[in-house]
Amino acid sequence: MIYLDFSATTPLDPKVLRAMLPYFSKDFANPASVHTPGQTALKAVDDARYSIAKILGVSGQEIIFTSGATEANNLALKGIIENSPLRKKHIITTSIEHDSILEPCAYLEKRGVRVTYVPVDKQGLVNPENVIKAVRPETILVSIGYVNSETGSIQSLKKIGRLLKNYNEKNYKLWLNTSPRKRGPKPQTIYFHTDATQAPNFLDCQPEVLHVDLMSLSSHKVYGPKGIGLLYIRSGVPINSLIQGGHQERNLRSGTVPVPGVVGFAEALSLAIKNQSTTYKKIQKLRDQLYTKLHKQLPQIIINTPLTNSTPSHLNISFPGLEGDIIQALLDEKGLAVSTGSACASGDITLSHVLMAMTQDEKISQGALRLTLGKLSTKKEIMTASQIISEVIKKLSLSLKS
Ligand code: PMP
Repeated sequence: MIYLDFSATTPLDPKVLRAMLPYFSKDFANPASVHTPGQTALKAVDDARYSIAKILGVSGQEIIFTSGATEANNLALKGIIENSPLRKKHIITTSIEHDSILEPCAYLEKRGVRVTYVPVDKQGLVNPENVIKAVRPETILVSIGYVNSETGSIQSLKKIGRLLKNYNEKNYKLWLNTSPRKRGPKPQTIYFHTDATQAPNFLDCQPEVLHVDLMSLSSHKVYGPKGIGLLYIRSGVPINSLIQGGHQERNLRSGTVPVPGVVGFAEALSLAIKNQSTTYKKIQKLRDQLYTKLHKQLPQIIINTPLTNSTPSHLNISFPGLEGDIIQALLDEKGLAVSTGSACASGDITLSHVLMAMTQDEKISQGALRLTLGKLSTKKEIMTASQIISEVIKKLSLSLKS
């Protein structure tokens, strides 16, 4: 089988597995136990935490391990909002976020929180000025994904982050310079969260550089184990926990810390960063070859990924008039694993909300395929994959005509 679905998940790197193995058996103890075996496990968790913190340029205390990015996104959104004493609460996000952002937003809307969904252009990009225009006095949180999981488009987080930082500083100075008798309550600081799940294989994810206060990551997208992720929370950002219990993770995420997962995540992230530029170049070359070959064989192809502003992993293409689900099933029969939208959405026939927000075109959304390359992809696979795709598309188009 040729696997071109690396943004759904990646295989575990053998080096990561090796690093994890002792913590399943020999050093299996609970890191919360005070005895010697427990302290050995705790040391492994601490080392992993500080290794990740070093990579991200943050302090270990600012990292909260979660079960993955879904939980990290839920914690960021609900945790910040539920902590706020404001009567009116407002969130700004975009119309192309992952469901683990959109569904918590819908949940909060049902509880009276207002949410603004900033639109995107045809390339799937948010205009930073539109984010600032959406700000209200009661805005508490802005959440914008770094790399879109369906198209690979990259948002200008630095620019948005800088604008929000300036806004916060200006607002605070204005309040400070108003006489205490005349001024109202201290203005709300707007916190900036990003879901950077799809980014670390290719892009710098240091919160300080991106100007973000909170950031979600997931291990299984970087050749690490499934079931582990993290939320970076800048020191001093007020947030509630969603899970109560044994007080782990500074009371923000109770539950026994999965030592092998944490160790594997740290090893995977460290490998991803170490090999970032080699992986980037290799995958970019393969994607260019894939696109060139497909375009030559199928000139009617529509490309949804902005090639000059995306991670090199993604090639989202559409065949208007055909159905992505049917193409995907036929490709699967021929030994090619791809997806139609985000993996979490496959299986239900709703159109991709990302492509609809970008194109407002049902045919483009319905006929979309997401091909995502990874560090294990080879030129031979890419050439075979493009051959299989063109054969399937030609056959399907013919059968529709007859
Ligand atoms: N956000 C994005 C952008 C993703 O691609 C995914 C995985 N599909 C998630 C969040 C959810 O991550 P996890 O599987 O770790 O919960």
